[in-house]
Amino acid sequence: MGNKLTDLRDTRFILYEQLNVEELCEAPRFQDHSRETFEMIITAAEKLAVNEFEPVNSAGDKIGCSWQDGKVSVPEPYREPFKKFCEGGWMNMQEHESVGGQNVPFCLHYACNAMFFAANHSLAGYMGLTHSAAKVIELYGTEEQKRKYMMPLYEGRYAGVMDLTEAQAGSDVGAVRTRAVKNPDGTYSITGGKIFITGGEQNLTENIIHILLARIEGDPEGTKGLSCFVLPKIRVAADGTPGEVNDINCSGIEHKMGMKGSATAVLNFGDNGNCIAELLGPERKGIQVMFHMMNEQRILVGMQGMAQAGTAYLHAVDFAKERKQGAAFGRAGTEQAAIIAHPDVRRNLLWMKAYTEGMRALIFYTMYCMDWETVTLNKDEKQKWHDLVEILTPICKAYCSDKGFDTCVKSIQVHGGYGYCHEYKVEQCARDSKITSIYEGTNAIQALDLFGRKIRMKKGVAFTALLNGMKATVGQARGVRDLSPYAAEMEKGITALEYLTTELLAATAEDDSFLAHSWASPYLEIVGDVVLGWMLIWQAVIAAKKIENSNGDENYYTAKILTAKFYASSLLPAVYGKILAIRKNDRSLLQMTDALFMQS
Ligand SMILES: Cc1cc2nc3c(=O)[nH]c(=O)nc-3n(C[C@H](O)[C@H](O)[C@H](O)COP(=O)(O)OP(=O)(O)OC[C@H]3O[C@@H](n4cnc5c(N)ncnc54)[C@H](O)[C@@H]3O)c2cc1C
Repeated sequence: MGNKLTDLRDTRFILYEQLNVEELCEAPRFQDHSRETFEMIITAAEKLAVNEFEPVNSAGDKIGCSWQDGKVSVPEPYREPFKKFCEGGWMNMQEHESVGGQNVPFCLHYACNAMFFAANHSLAGYMGLTHSAAKVIELYGTEEQKRKYMMPLYEGRYAGVMDLTEAQAGSDVGAVRTRAVKNPDGTYSITGGKIFITGGEQNLTENIIHILLARIEGDPEGTKGLSCFVLPKIRVAADGTPGEVNDINCSGIEHKMGMKGSATAVLNFGDNGNCIAELLGPERKGIQVMFHMMNEQRILVGMQGMAQAGTAYLHAVDFAKERKQGAAFGRAGTEQAAIIAHPDVRRNLLWMKAYTEGMRALIFYTMYCMDWETVTLNKDEKQKWHDLVEILTPICKAYCSDKGFDTCVKSIQVHGGYGYCHEYKVEQCARDSKITSIYEGTNAIQALDLFGRKIRMKKGVAFTALLNGMKATVGQARGVRDLSPYAAEMEKGITALEYLTTELLAATAEDDSFLAHSWASPYLEIVGDVVLGWMLIWQAVIAAKKIENSNGDENYYTAKILTAKFYASSLLPAVYGKILAIRKNDRSLLQMTDALFMQS
């Protein structure tokens, strides 16, 4: 019996049987790796997640974070697992050895990350942001900044945070008002405030490094006038010694529905005129610099949704096999059967299995594309992988966070009344996962990114590449007798998506642009539905080949095939209803003025 955090058999199937990640080891960057080292890493990550992260998950939720006089305490039980995570070199395992990393492929790294986030979303969140902050300094920092900040971040002695949001600047990042004034010594004095900053103040690390967006005095309004800064909580001298405490005041933390062990801080900068930051990257290029951090975080957030779904599903299966209620279907009068015997429960479980495994494959595949983008020397190949990552990023973020939450809710339902109670993990999964559709750019913003930018990118080249990838897999599935009708279902879905995309793009060029954009979120969901089907039918093709010589693994492959069939025939067809709703071109939404919403 495996752990109840993630299905490692499924993780291994994706890595070794679907993606053949060992092929990556032929690239010089990954040459020190092999399946053996991958397995050592996965086993060690499982141990850390199961033995250290998971046991303090519920305690962290109950204790929460506390604020007093500007200081924030995180749940005390987090301290030890955080230390072990840093000492184990997990923070930068995917980085190059020149910065202390272990050159681990991104897809492997995410296989581990999925366990950490499933085990403890709040705790793992501190690490995720710290890595991103270090990475952006590695990419844009001066040599001195790298020495002072990057290495202590990668080592986990410092924590990194991302300061974008202000009261008037949430989705509208260009509305940032925090100001920077250049000092004679080249540093900048910061004044302003940020809200909702994850880990903006905490007592886990020696220092906190803020990656901050602000506007240099005199620079234009909007995103074009924003610059990026490194703002340490405690200033650091060129030789790395800690100096004066910066003028950053944490005036409070938020009280949230979930992620209670994660400190969400309200910060004021420069109340005493002494908040000193350093420019990161060129002036007025803050958005480009920050995008590196945001893009990494977006896939990570999709993964968080998937991770919570993965553990919620495993808990549901266990519960459904244990909990007895009513006689088995069609056997009235017999003794109580486990609820998994009831048609509705079974359908719920298969629904959860399909989404969970499809999302897991999608996230790992996206990281695998990133791996090939990193190592391939061929320019066209590099571009191809890059384009795939670009187009898949908003889908990973939005689709996996929405479906991740839905899966957690479904798990509560399978648990009945127990699912609504603290004693069972799944209600925390739902509370913790809800944030994933909101932070890192709400899912509406992801939908606009996909619909307004990514599918049009380079005259649709990336989108066409995605469609072609799906069509190629469906072609293979057609050749597998047992799968052929399901491949036909998938083909229909892909064609419908292709037509819909053309129609919506035409509508945006005409007067119907507002109406077309109102469909951006449902459009992203439709793309996600089809992409998920792609992942599952791809897996079924492999399972169908392997089942003959499965050496005792027959049940796994059989379930894989049945899951793909169920998805293609019972879930995917919902896209036609969604497409029909868009095609109706109904104009009620346009006629619904602001005033009509105000009934009181
Ligand atoms: C727990 C938590 C942790 C967070 N951590 C961080 C952090 O570490 N760093 C940080 O900088 N921020 C952080 N945030 C802030 C988070 O990124 C924002 O909440 C998010 O970007 C949305 O901004 P907002 O809350 O102001 O909502 P708004 O922007 O006001 O959005 C409200 C609603 O309007 C919709 N909307 C807004 N504009 C548009 C548009 N143009 N088109 C379509 N729909 C639109 C949104 O989708 C949403 O449904 C965190 C928030 C929370 C709750």
